[in-house]
Amino acid sequence: MDIIHLLPDSVANQIAAGEVIQRPASCLKELVENSLDAGATRIQVIVRDAGRTLLQVIDNGIGMSEMDARLAFERHATSKIREAQDLFSLRTMGFRGEALASICAVSQVEMTTRRAEDETGTLIEIHGSDVVRQEVCACPVGTNIKVCNLFFNVPVRRKFLKTDQTELRNLLTEFYHIVLVYPKVAFTFVHNDEILLELPSGTEKQRIEAVFGNPKRNVYTSAFVDVSTETEMVSIHGFVVKPESATRKAEQYFFVNGRYMRHPYFLKAVQTAYSGMLTSDYQPSFFLYFEIAPEAIDVNIHPTKTEIKFADEQAIFQILMASVREALGKFTLAPQIDFDTSGSIDIPQPPTGEVAAPRVTVDPTYNPFHSRGTIYPDRVPRNWESLYEGLPASRNTGMPEYHDPSISLEPELLRAEDVESCPLWQYGNKYILLPGANGLVLVNQHRAHAAILYAQYMEQLTLSQGAMQQLLFPEVLSLSPDDMVLLTHIIPDLRAIGFDLEQLSPDSYSVQGVPSQLVSQSPLPVLQHILQQVRERGADTQREWREQIALSLAEQSAIPYGKALTEEEMRDIVSKLVRLPQYRRMADGKTIVSVMTDDEINKRF
Ligand code: ADP
Ligand code: MG
Repeated sequence: MDIIHLLPDSVANQIAAGEVIQRPASCLKELVENSLDAGATRIQVIVRDAGRTLLQVIDNGIGMSEMDARLAFERHATSKIREAQDLFSLRTMGFRGEALASICAVSQVEMTTRRAEDETGTLIEIHGSDVVRQEVCACPVGTNIKVCNLFFNVPVRRKFLKTDQTELRNLLTEFYHIVLVYPKVAFTFVHNDEILLELPSGTEKQRIEAVFGNPKRNVYTSAFVDVSTETEMVSIHGFVVKPESATRKAEQYFFVNGRYMRHPYFLKAVQTAYSGMLTSDYQPSFFLYFEIAPEAIDVNIHPTKTEIKFADEQAIFQILMASVREALGKFTLAPQIDFDTSGSIDIPQPPTGEVAAPRVTVDPTYNPFHSRGTIYPDRVPRNWESLYEGLPASRNTGMPEYHDPSISLEPELLRAEDVESCPLWQYGNKYILLPGANGLVLVNQHRAHAAILYAQYMEQLTLSQGAMQQLLFPEVLSLSPDDMVLLTHIIPDLRAIGFDLEQLSPDSYSVQGVPSQLVSQSPLPVLQHILQQVRERGADTQREWREQIALSLAEQSAIPYGKALTEEEMRDIVSKLVRLPQYRRMADGKTIVSVMTDDEINKRF
């Protein structure tokens, strides 16, 4: 029986239209998801030139009939949904029936496919939506689809593609998101004839180990504890790293109903569960899988989005935090851990959603540095919570108040000439206090220093003037394939700022020199931190990754909290700080300077 049918227009229109194929990675995702939907147990991915010239996916799934092979490329042709309400109970990956239609419109596709019950298979070739060949062929059961010369007929799109390194990195990232939820399916990933990943069928743990458990990624499942929680609303299982095995460079993955998701708010829940257990700067690695009724999440979002909205995010926050704490508690046997989370911990509000008045709107595109013409990055902090940082929290709702920065012009807090001679105090070995234009000014010492260093590093990067200090004993930096790709990308800038790096093998570099400011630190964690920042912040242009390099180095070389400062050191920091074009917040949005106004102080008496 042919199993494909056309969606009625009305249903099609109810489905958010969107551009499905933006880059090779989105094409790969669609193809592999189709193979999984077809029940494949073995999937091979073959890529050339980061997907520009070839993206091939070979599966051993159910295959297609001759008729289906042709229909598959029609818009809204799908075997997976008949009615609009099916959208809400959907559990297969693809459901719009637009992936293959979009792909064949912008590439040259050649596909062979055969079902087990058919003796012969079908070969079909389509160039820019035109069928140029369709014939009977001999081929194994399953589907073998080659997407050649992506965007051959859309030069603008082709121009938008990033370098091969970036596109390959995007492909691998997309691939990780999928293979981590299908551990039973065997996968291989080949790029330009080189096998980058070979993943046999196994358990979730084995899959995680197969992807990340190498000296380069340093994520070994023996360092993990199991999380397992069943509630009526949601079930959560997976693995979280033991606190003492946490690193600066963490692998953090959430999945919901078999799909990868980004969820800054739930990330906060995991971090809260670890509070007090990690040295600052260290991040927990975790792989957490959620199962939830499809009605309780918004499935009908853009296919390329990885953010997912849940019906009751606060309740899940609490369940998640409690499960992680419980897992860690079992492991550390620490009796002081309080499992009664309701009383002891403030649950922050989710970034959006139903909130009692006053309504708070957070504009995710707001960029505090935008209108000021500063050297600071033209970028929005990715973590919603950093948008709140430094804004006064209003007690009654628990929600921070939102100040529209375009309306309230920030009054000048500090004047360079006052800072030269005013009294200075240090509080808690963390803050510098001084009188300002209209109140008592508190300066976060670590962030202030980091902001000063950030400006210096940015200047050195721009002018290629980093000072290098040769290491007595060179160290070896081993890297995963995607970090290797990333490194080749940013290496000219690392050299510009003072790193001396030589490639040793296809997956390692020797570090022979470091920026002179960093000579007292061990170079490998410094470089790992930079790679992590660049990777996580999705820095794709040279300007973006320079900012991340500068920020990472600044964070790592700034004076720490807990350091007692002399008056001279404090004055040096504050007077350099106020000379920066934007001294109140860091490049990533964190607050450096806060003021207690005279009014606020007087009201207390
Ligand atoms: P969707 O996946 O949303 O249904 P696609 O355009 O991705 O839409 O695919 C259209 C149809 O082609 C699918 O519904 C499925 O029936 C068929 N198909 C696509 N890829 C495969 C495959 N690898 N194996 C078997 N059938 C496939
Ligand atoms: Mg599909």
